[in-house]
Amino acid sequence: RAKQDGRNRYRFFSTELEDLVLSRHLLERHLREALQENRFEVFYQSKVNAREGRVIGAEALVRMYSTEGELLSPGRFIPLAEETGLIVPLGKMVLEMACQQAATWQAQGHVLKMSVNIAAAQFAAGNFPEVVAEVLDHTGLNPDLLELEITEGTLMSDANAARETLVALKELGVHVSLDDFGTGYSSLAYLKRFPLDTLKIDQSFVRDMLNDKSDMAIIQTIIALGQTLGMELVAEGVELREQAEILASMGCHIMQGYLYDKPKPASEWSFVEATGIARSISGT
Ligand code: C2E
Ligand code: MG
Ligand code: MG
Ligand code: MG
Repeated sequence: RAKQDGRNRYRFFSTELEDLVLSRHLLERHLREALQENRFEVFYQSKVNAREGRVIGAEALVRMYSTEGELLSPGRFIPLAEETGLIVPLGKMVLEMACQQAATWQAQGHVLKMSVNIAAAQFAAGNFPEVVAEVLDHTGLNPDLLELEITEGTLMSDANAARETLVALKELGVHVSLDDFGTGYSSLAYLKRFPLDTLKIDQSFVRDMLNDKSDMAIIQTIIALGQTLGMELVAEGVELREQAEILASMGCHIMQGYLYDKPKPASEWSFVEATGIARSISGT
């Protein structure tokens, strides 16, 4: 008995530690293997012009398949990819796949702006504008149809370098959006120094806007700020029609969220071809 207890205790302590180390180690190995074996898939979620109910864009959101075929969401592997630097090759792959998809849709007459999330390490890599130019070049995507989503943290870590990168991106003709806006630390004065096109209101504010006055006030402030700076406004995490209606009445016209659709593979997108304008069947 004593022996068994001892073993159990030993096992108890070691598994906790083992789980931590093993899962991190395993996940890192899985990440590398998945990169080599192309076990990533890009899902796309529509962005909708609330006024006309038209799909005007899509956000590329990466998923990883485990060797057992389990679908892993980015929350499970992006943080480690960032820690290990694997986000740089992974991010480039997502950029390529998303631009290829947008170019394919464009060739089929579906003109959608493609939004791609860019991690701080990618953005700060020094050659980032060249990487974007290269991808645009070999996918043939119109730069006007590419939007890069970065976060406030990416801008703030080295503001001068970030500004130079943004200027170079602007010269290429691509758009830049500030994702999860309101959760970081940018000030109005700071924002106007950067050539940014879009503010994306963080979903945490949208989630509670109907019953939390301060979230509603923050949204109003962000919209006013965006309007003052001449920026486009996008709301993410829109799940209820009432949220969409209030956001639109406050001046935010581009919506993204489960109210319209969930991220899905390009093969599951369906378009109704009417006037050359893409329209998604699902959701609405
Ligand atoms: P994000 O860029 O802010 O993307 C929005 C997230 O909210 C996505 O989660 C999306 O599926 C989810 N979402 C959309 N509409 C709704 C809604 O109505 N309700 C709720 N509750 N959630 C909604 P996802 O796909 O799990 O991605 C999570 C985060 O992972 C992204 O947040 C982004 O920061 C990161 N990520 C995803 N793909 C990439 C990538 O290719 N590169 C990099 N660097 N980061 C990525
Ligand atoms: Mg995003
Ligand atoms: Mg976001
Ligand atoms: Mg987010």
